[in-house]
Amino acid sequence: MLDSITFNELKVSGNLPSPKGTVFKIMQLSEHNNVPLPELIAVLNTDPVMIGRLLKLANSAAFVRNRPAVALTPDVLMSIGLNAVHQLALTFALVAEHRRGLCKQFDYDGYWSRALACGAAMQLLGNQLRLAPAGELFTIGMLSSIGQLAMASLHPEAYGELIARHGGPYARVLTRLEREQFGYHHLDIAGALLRDWGLPRMFCDAVIQQEDPDGCRPDNTRSARLTACLHLATSLAEIFFLQGGARQQAYDEVKKLATRLDIDSSHFPRLCDDIVREWREWNALQDISTPLQESFADMERRQSMAPRPAEPVNPPQALHILVVEDEPSQRMMLQRLLQLLGHQVDVAADGEEAFEAVLSKRPQLVITDLDMPKLDGMQLIRRLRAIPEGRQLYIIVLTILDNEDNLAEVFSCGADDFISKPIPPRILQARLQAGQRIIQEQQNLQQEQEQLRRHLQELSLDNQLAQEAAQTDGLTGLYNRRYAMRYLPQIWDEAQHSQQALSALMLDIDHFKVINDEHGHDVGDAILQEFAKILQLLCRRSDIICRFGGEEFLIVLPDTRLTTAIQVAERIRTTLAGRNMLATSLALKMTVSIGVAEKQAGQANIEALIKAADQALYQAKRSGRNRVEAAL
Ligand code: GH3
Ligand code: MG
Ligand code: MG
Ligand code: MG
Repeated sequence: MLDSITFNELKVSGNLPSPKGTVFKIMQLSEHNNVPLPELIAVLNTDPVMIGRLLKLANSAAFVRNRPAVALTPDVLMSIGLNAVHQLALTFALVAEHRRGLCKQFDYDGYWSRALACGAAMQLLGNQLRLAPAGELFTIGMLSSIGQLAMASLHPEAYGELIARHGGPYARVLTRLEREQFGYHHLDIAGALLRDWGLPRMFCDAVIQQEDPDGCRPDNTRSARLTACLHLATSLAEIFFLQGGARQQAYDEVKKLATRLDIDSSHFPRLCDDIVREWREWNALQDISTPLQESFADMERRQSMAPRPAEPVNPPQALHILVVEDEPSQRMMLQRLLQLLGHQVDVAADGEEAFEAVLSKRPQLVITDLDMPKLDGMQLIRRLRAIPEGRQLYIIVLTILDNEDNLAEVFSCGADDFISKPIPPRILQARLQAGQRIIQEQQNLQQEQEQLRRHLQELSLDNQLAQEAAQTDGLTGLYNRRYAMRYLPQIWDEAQHSQQALSALMLDIDHFKVINDEHGHDVGDAILQEFAKILQLLCRRSDIICRFGGEEFLIVLPDTRLTTAIQVAERIRTTLAGRNMLATSLALKMTVSIGVAEKQAGQANIEALIKAADQALYQAKRSGRNRVEAAL
């Protein structure tokens, strides 16, 4: 980790990547929590290039829009989210300032192309996993490699030589070599820069840990998943620059990473192609060319059609046989014969010995005499058929004569076949072949059953994934209650561990029934959608907004004390009270009541916090609605 003195020295040197111009203004504006939207739009509108990029983001695949965004309206900004606007502005300001540089060995265009690839990958992958708002995911992906650019800016010559020797700025060994040579490495610098630019701590941590996502925190928290997702995104971006067999091989590896993150492997190639499409468009905006490659869907199709290496043809299978015979000469003769035929042979002198041998030596086939001391042949077979180890055995009985009555009894107690003594070797061979075939079939059947079992397991996994896809509420696109109640305990735990504050807002629209009654259910629905968008606009990147029930919403604000939470609630309440919903001639007014609560030391879990907010909401309703009340 880079200490703050070193970082400040580097900063003062003026050689660190830094944003200027419009972006600097936006960053200053966004330091205040209440950025007035018109002011932000005014600043953005002074920069036509920035407008283009924001529209590109708003129209990207991660945002579902009915029609393309064509101008920077409040609505468009709202859908991207203010944090994303701020971060994206920052990111592209960096591109503009650092298209060229002093480090001769550093491929600046290649660097940005790769950064854009990683941004697009992070955006679509992280969106799928619902790790953060789509616009912000793009930024974290794109800035995750900022450390390399910083190294090239800080040490153009020494770093240039280093990367020339080791195959470019992305060689794995560089992290160690950089530390040895400069005292810090690109991940240190990246983390310090992102923190300096005010990006959320979880983002900074993910960037710092991206090369070793499992090493630091093997848990399943959101930040661990974010780190793993960033690792996946950078690995995927790497593939975009590979060709042929290397590309194929790297793709197979990346697919494994994706599966570990619960990304459905059947959709993965399409997802990758979507990412490439986004990447191409971003590159085009920067005048960077994109290498032409076979689509991932085609690559998978080709791979699945390629002839598999032929299975080796099984030589006649050698069997593991147990010979059970009380007569020593007979036993030895049979053993010899079978060994000559290539089989592995164990022997037993009576039924009891044979039963033990089946358990300890697990033969595939038993050839047994009928008439023996202690336990005779039939008793042995009955006993074997009664235990799991004996049920699958192929059992051949040795009889003296083809006695029909005797045979019926032999088969009825569970024998598979018989051979009469004295044993002609050709007959023995033929009977063994029949046995072999059946044993083989049994094995195939077992394999098929095993495959079927695995397949069924995967199917139920698919169901699980499909269910997880239903994390959002269909009407508003916010998290639904079920998802929130599964996910929020993690947020609670994180707050608990880091000893950070945590607050919750419970909101309920006032007299919503009247709106339905007077204007119809469709208008009611549209208002709920608009309300959801307003919430998204007014909340911070890290807040979790969820539709809790019909016209009830829950917002959980990590790292937020009660006073700030009350400010946020007031902002929502006044914004709503001061505007016409749906911007139609209906001039619909709507108000909301909000209960606010902060996590208390004595509370056991997230439910307790939600309950406190709910009680405060009840108080707000009782005190006349259109109010914010805080839990006592
Ligand atoms: P108050 O909360 O101020 O006490 O009054 P209210 O009228 O909002 O409260 P109530 O809980 O009695 O009614 C909630 C209404 O919200 C009833 C229901 O018809 C409506 N509602 C719930 N879900 C939806 C929805 O998905 N779409 C529409 N259009 N209306 C919904
Ligand atoms: Mg109500
Ligand atoms: Mg209500
Ligand atoms: Mg209600």
